[in-house]
Amino acid sequence: MAKWVYSFGDGKAEGNAGMKDLLGGKGANLAEMSNLGLPVPPGFSITTEVCSYFYERGNSYPTDLKPAIDSALTTIGARANATLGDPNRPLLVSVRSGARVSMPGMMDTVLNLGLNAQTTEGLAKLTEPRFAYDSYRRFIQMYSAVVLGLEHSFFEEILDTEKELKGAELDTDLGADDLRNIASLFKDCVREKLGRPFPEDVHEQLWGAIGAVFGSWQSPRAKTYRRLHDIPEEWGTAVTVQTMVFGNRGATSATGVAFTRDPATGEKLLYGEFLINAQGEDVVAGIRTPQPISKVVRERQSGKRPSLEEAMPQTFTELQAICAKLEVHYRDMQDLEFTVQEGKLFMLQTRSGKRTAEAAVKIAVDMEREGLIDKKVAVGRIEPAALDQLLHPTLDPDAEKELIAMGLAASPGAATGEIAFTADEAEKVAAERRDVILVRTETSPEDIHGMHAARGILTARGGMTSHAAVVARGMGRPCVSGAGMIKIDAKNGVMTAGKHTLKRGDVITIDGATGSVYNGRVGLRQPELTGDFGVLMAWADAIRRLKVRTNADTPDDASTARKFGAEGIGLCRTEHMFFDNDRIVAVRQMILADAESDRKAALAKLLPMQRQDFEGIFRAMEGLPVTIRLLDPPLHEFLPQDDEEIAAVARAAGGDPAKLRARAIALHEANPMLGHRGVRLGITYPEIYEMQARAILEAALNVEKAGGKPVQLEIMVPLVAWKAELDRMKERIDAVAAQIRKERGRIPDYLLGTMIELPRAALQAGEIAKTAQFFSFGTNDLTQTTIGISRDDAGMFLMDYLNKGVLTRDPFVTIDTEGVGELVRIAAERGRRSRPGLKLGICGEHGGDPDSIRFCHDSGLDYVSCSPFRVPVARLAAAQAALASVKNID
Ligand code: PEP
Ligand code: MG
Repeated sequence: MAKWVYSFGDGKAEGNAGMKDLLGGKGANLAEMSNLGLPVPPGFSITTEVCSYFYERGNSYPTDLKPAIDSALTTIGARANATLGDPNRPLLVSVRSGARVSMPGMMDTVLNLGLNAQTTEGLAKLTEPRFAYDSYRRFIQMYSAVVLGLEHSFFEEILDTEKELKGAELDTDLGADDLRNIASLFKDCVREKLGRPFPEDVHEQLWGAIGAVFGSWQSPRAKTYRRLHDIPEEWGTAVTVQTMVFGNRGATSATGVAFTRDPATGEKLLYGEFLINAQGEDVVAGIRTPQPISKVVRERQSGKRPSLEEAMPQTFTELQAICAKLEVHYRDMQDLEFTVQEGKLFMLQTRSGKRTAEAAVKIAVDMEREGLIDKKVAVGRIEPAALDQLLHPTLDPDAEKELIAMGLAASPGAATGEIAFTADEAEKVAAERRDVILVRTETSPEDIHGMHAARGILTARGGMTSHAAVVARGMGRPCVSGAGMIKIDAKNGVMTAGKHTLKRGDVITIDGATGSVYNGRVGLRQPELTGDFGVLMAWADAIRRLKVRTNADTPDDASTARKFGAEGIGLCRTEHMFFDNDRIVAVRQMILADAESDRKAALAKLLPMQRQDFEGIFRAMEGLPVTIRLLDPPLHEFLPQDDEEIAAVARAAGGDPAKLRARAIALHEANPMLGHRGVRLGITYPEIYEMQARAILEAALNVEKAGGKPVQLEIMVPLVAWKAELDRMKERIDAVAAQIRKERGRIPDYLLGTMIELPRAALQAGEIAKTAQFFSFGTNDLTQTTIGISRDDAGMFLMDYLNKGVLTRDPFVTIDTEGVGELVRIAAERGRRSRPGLKLGICGEHGGDPDSIRFCHDSGLDYVSCSPFRVPVARLAAAQAALASVKNID
């Protein structure tokens, strides 16, 4: 026979903490606390299997559930010395839902169940009348709202009218008779609204509440919550029924919540709040301001009212001992609820406490030092994505702020600076060493220099995968995108945000973690990368197998990434170097040249600039591997777009605007993802790749000659689809190398490899690997080309897909394992079959995503490469991937 009901209390329990699947998190932990001998009011949990039964059999219960509940009621009645429905010794219970994981989308709690006209009179005699009638009217209101589905406002109105009639300002000004009268009016209201009376039968009340909990599992808000948090429907919820204890029985009673450590900072002290003479919901409701639990916290907050430590020293000591016991037992920071009833302490809940990233790191490191957990557990405790919070400046939480607009939280971190409306303006302001925020309707590749110069970026249009958002994340610049209420008039140098009008040079502050835009300067806090953070990262490094590199195009980015622990550059995109003001002219001359000789002349101007770029990067990387990708984007991206710009460029270059316009049109790629770009550009204009190869090789020689460590060079050809393409490029590059050897007497070692970013390349990996010495998976393009949706198009409707549940993950964030991932696995396997030991990495945006990193670990890649600010996230995720795969083998 199945066991449907598990009781707890009085120092023993039928369940334990390991039974969350069956008893729900709350029920399992109450059982565990009972087993530990802690003061837990007796109760019982109805299992999640009853919930499944309920839904499988048309909202009915197993026939043997009723006797099981009756028997459990008898047990807790004996423990509490009370009986449900007995006017002389009424048992009152709370009824709560409890899924395996905490689910705020579920049913609220019902308190004081078991009160009716008779038991309330009985309670009045046992305690005092005002308390009894107040409990009764609260119960009717709560039960009616949660179980009977009536609106709270009906009851609030009655309460307000009565208060007015009595001239009472606060609920506490109402006397026993008033409250009895209100309870009766509440019952009239139920009868009027529902056409049937409020249940007087206490068993009917109980079954009503149980049914409401199970029913709430399929409520729209629970369904939404489940979908958003990947919680399977089959899990079901448990119901926990527990004897009431009262924190509102006068000055020696209280109720509160406590954390065993400070959830914001991780500091080891009893943290939390309580209220004297109050019931649970009063603490969270915010009507009365709760007092801190510990004296030190009260002193820090300069609080006037006493802490629990001062007001109830004995209870505090007892609570402190229980907290210590629970922490050692669970080996994690606990978040608990307690009630003091006339001087006696009761524990109502314990669970692992939610915490900020800062607290998570400190607690993990402290607990390892205290011997509570080992290093692997400590590393496994931190949510990699949460580390982001620690790597960027954040807003000073105490600073005053004036919110003027909201957009999308596109790239984390806070930044403050003067408004600039164009990339050039931004660069100029930054050159004068003033902080600047680039404000654009939307950004394009031509804005890169301004985005780089800016502290942060704000756009009025564009989603999470807009150009501004993607590039800002890559650069580690805070970004708020799609702030639709902002109107920008760049020509006149003004923007409006609601009633605010701001001019060029005015100061704003943005918070890319929340999408907020503030007027004026708001104080910032700088990130701390040493201390506990450094300790934890070192532990992660000792565990992981995957190497972590960075995507960096400048010496600055390279240095930032090294500070964050990057072990090389996995992708240096060379095209960004061409957008600088002093280069774009030569780039355009190169593109517009009709004859090869003209093109070569323009390239000769670019060569020293490129060489200098690479020297800076190699110096910053001090002998670590650096993968440099040869030019990738279609050439039209470098050409002016509108007539005004075309005229300006033609003037500067001394050319004919009509010819320039014709050229721009001829070069325009209808589908900018594919076609005439990447290696195909290298095939039609081999001089470009030759110039780049020369710049790379000479730079490596120069750095070495100047005493720098020899760089581990990897030259990478983009967008290869056919082995023959790579073969041709290899011939050209090797020829350049041979030429340099002749000129300089030697050449640096280098590997030649390719990106795998087209499905054809993935399938042909066995062939391509005969030439390529390494592969780097370009999962940005591979995702676009595999699923047939471009990143730019994807934004809006992917959101819609995610909302509708068509997709559970955004494939541009997390590798789509069934399509893109399958191609990665195929390419890895075929590539290594023809070239054992072939070096494999990933340099698409996915390289910084924890779930994708797990996939890369499992697929046998050698490294992931991500933007500098994601490097610590990737180091941690790589360690967790290694821990998870070891666990799977065990
Ligand atoms: C890629 O396609 O994944 C890649 C890294 O190249 P890009 O994003 O520059 O196209
Ligand atoms: Mg690409």
